[in-house]
Amino acid sequence: MTPSGVLQDGWIYIKDDKIVSVTPTQPNVQGQIVRSSDYIYPGLVDLHNHPIYDTLPRWTPPHLYNNRYEWRRDPVYQNAVQVPERNIVAAEFCDMDEFAEIKQLIGGTTTLLGISAPAFGKPMYDCIKGLARNLDWYSGFYGTNIGHEPVANPLGVTPPNYSLIAPNWPGDMKPADLLKYQSGLNDGSIKAFFIHLAEGKRTDAEAQSEFGLLKDDELLTASTVIIHGVGLLASDFADMSKAGASLVWSPRSNLVLYGETTDVETAAQQGVTIAIAPDWSPTGSSNMLAELKFASDYSTTKLNGLFSAKQLFEMATSIPARLAHVDQLIGTIEAGRYADIFMMSSHSPDAYSNLATASPSDVSLTIVNGMPVYGTPDHMAQAGVTTTEDVSVCGEKRSLNSQALTVSGAFAAATTQLGNALTGQNTSLGPIAECN
Ligand SMILES: [Zn+2]
Repeated sequence: MTPSGVLQDGWIYIKDDKIVSVTPTQPNVQGQIVRSSDYIYPGLVDLHNHPIYDTLPRWTPPHLYNNRYEWRRDPVYQNAVQVPERNIVAAEFCDMDEFAEIKQLIGGTTTLLGISAPAFGKPMYDCIKGLARNLDWYSGFYGTNIGHEPVANPLGVTPPNYSLIAPNWPGDMKPADLLKYQSGLNDGSIKAFFIHLAEGKRTDAEAQSEFGLLKDDELLTASTVIIHGVGLLASDFADMSKAGASLVWSPRSNLVLYGETTDVETAAQQGVTIAIAPDWSPTGSSNMLAELKFASDYSTTKLNGLFSAKQLFEMATSIPARLAHVDQLIGTIEAGRYADIFMMSSHSPDAYSNLATASPSDVSLTIVNGMPVYGTPDHMAQAGVTTTEDVSVCGEKRSLNSQALTVSGAFAAATTQLGNALTGQNTSLGPIAECN
């Protein structure tokens, strides 16, 4: 899947961490050869996830909510999701990170955003390195130390009249952060400003007041990427479009929590750029592939086919890469880009539809930064990976590259440890993939 379309029977030549060439004929070089009739896609770029929570099982809300403040303070939610996570994250962070990143890699995601720190305001652990790229902690693009990414990712801006019922949510934007974000956007040290916003019904006053706060704070900019925007109206999308701000759409989680999702039809009409991402496993999709499938069905059945399979592919690859300002590095398969790609068996003659209707076990090889991390035993062997650990995905035998697990340790040991910790919190480890 090249930027100019599908190259049939083509060759991708990867050397070290980069794609050297994409050609119709075999390049004249020595090396390992993976021969396959599978489709090859650029690694998916997930701009909205909370991967630490992807270790938990699905949570079915007892009823619909009006906005995110309602469920976040509901004891039913807190006991099922928030309390178990909070109780184990400091001790289990590295296992949770490993499980969550492998869960995404299995679905072809090679870059993600949103892993929360082991404790709010405390330093990130070094085990965040490795496996998938973490745009907010360690992408591998900005030096060898963690925490130098030109990205801000506050979890929201809480209206003052909500401060009594929603005091000091960890992760939400604080008054002290405001100047930091404004100056970072002005001097270019923040290249992408992601913010959860208007996560509530269009009839909900909270959603509307958040967009007003964002504008008042001069944070509606060309670098601003609004996550959710469920409560936004046509005039808001017009403001976003005028400012050059963009949107990340997470339909499944929205529909589960609120019974409605962002008016992407109007957003698109107003010229707002839209990416797609799964939010998190408890109420959203377990990975990007599953969210693409959900969005494809939703587009067909509810939006009169608003998004084609090709558009959905772009909303999961080149568009999010552009919004994160890494589109010169990843997000497409072309010479000079980092080798973040994945392969998938073909069950549709159309490669875009193939992606939008995939099942977890269709992914046959995932490569990050030139390193094969996950795949079928056959593809991994062809790629020259000699030391592997077995993992079962929807009943199929798959391999993890042991060399990619050196930071966080063997996957089986991590899942056992994590499973025990979660059982001790009256819950359990969620599935590594949701099988159809
Ligand atoms: Zn979120």
